[in-house]
Amino acid sequence: MTDHVESGAVLGQGALGRATQLVRGGLTRSPFAETSETLYLNSGFVFGSAVEAEAAFKGESDRYIYSRYGNPTVGMFEERLALLEGAEACRATATGMAAVFSALACQLQAGDRLVASRELFGSCLHIVTKILPAWGVETVLVPGADPEAWADALSQPAQAVFLESPSNPMLEVVDIAAVADLAHRAGARVVVDNVFATPLYQNPLALGADIVTYSATKHIDGQGRCLGGAVLASAAFMHDRFIPFYRHTGPSLSPFNAWVMVKALETLELRVERQAETAARLADWLALQPQVRQVRYPGRADHPQQDLAKRQMKGFGSLVSFEVEGGKEAAFSLLDALQVIDISNNLGDSKSLACHPATTTHSKLTPGERADAGIGDGVVRLSVGLERPEDLIADLERASMSLPRPMEPPRRAAGA
Ligand SMILES: *Cc1c(COP(=O)(O)O)cnc(C)c1O
Repeated sequence: MTDHVESGAVLGQGALGRATQLVRGGLTRSPFAETSETLYLNSGFVFGSAVEAEAAFKGESDRYIYSRYGNPTVGMFEERLALLEGAEACRATATGMAAVFSALACQLQAGDRLVASRELFGSCLHIVTKILPAWGVETVLVPGADPEAWADALSQPAQAVFLESPSNPMLEVVDIAAVADLAHRAGARVVVDNVFATPLYQNPLALGADIVTYSATKHIDGQGRCLGGAVLASAAFMHDRFIPFYRHTGPSLSPFNAWVMVKALETLELRVERQAETAARLADWLALQPQVRQVRYPGRADHPQQDLAKRQMKGFGSLVSFEVEGGKEAAFSLLDALQVIDISNNLGDSKSLACHPATTTHSKLTPGERADAGIGDGVVRLSVGLERPEDLIADLERASMSLPRPMEPPRRAAGA
């Protein structure tokens, strides 16, 4: 391949542990032998001769040509993420949405049929219900947690399946292995948006999916600095389908953002493990509060798909959703009373962030669509950060004083 040079480093795939790969995978040093990954902030590359340029364009030499196709800093990020995911190939994109859009658009054409879960991130839903249908792709939406609905939709031929699990914001879990099996029998490739689970806690390719997408903006950067995304798949899919689309349409990641991301991968495991630990603790605390009607966290025994979550996830992530008594008014007064946790629609950040999905991330849905997805007016989504857990609990406790007093006595938590 002419736009992505392998590092040739001593790191054999699978030979080193994850923690080692997260700090050393993909590292390619320049002749100056710097310790840290270098930022190659350049758009173009020069050729030693006209013959060399010709060979590069013919695909006969392994070198960088132009940063829209590939760049050494971007390449380090791609290689490190591919090692973490256990994928043959990775391409970085400018945003998570560029990853989702290009992963679907590179393989679909007019007349094709796409089956997707209806519990999708708002912009993903826009792509599958507005943009692709305008280009002649038929989209069928199914409730992601319903195996029979998938079986029914995939009883006819389809070309692609797209899903998100756990879903935003209600953290519903889709049985990836079962859907992949049905999809393959229908002739479809499976694309999984794995943002909420992170590459640490769920491996869709091992469960049978064909393509994984990330918004690297979320946990991968995790510090609120840069937008980014990634697509991971087999070398054959990338070569035949994805790379021609990517090279000519230009969703490429900037080298600067890739440099931030490759450094951020070094601390991904440390950050996400701490966030998930605190999230589990907050979920259990929230479930004991009388003003809280329900808590959604895939690690809790009262999650409707706990067995499936345990089977397909190695950890349960940093997001918790809960519904307060009193609808929108109560949710707003809780959010406004928070002093440590910020109001923001972003997630996966080192700072804890809370939002009201019904009026922000999911405000474009009709009331009926929101009801289908279980997004009540009292639902608050919490992205748990790296603060001291006691400070977050104290913040939520203080804020919950503003909520209407419950009529019934507190219920017991259903599980840990
Ligand atoms: C944020 C997000 C995206 C979009 O990512 P951007 O980097 O904001 O473009 C896609 N899917 C999920 C699940 C997300 O949380």
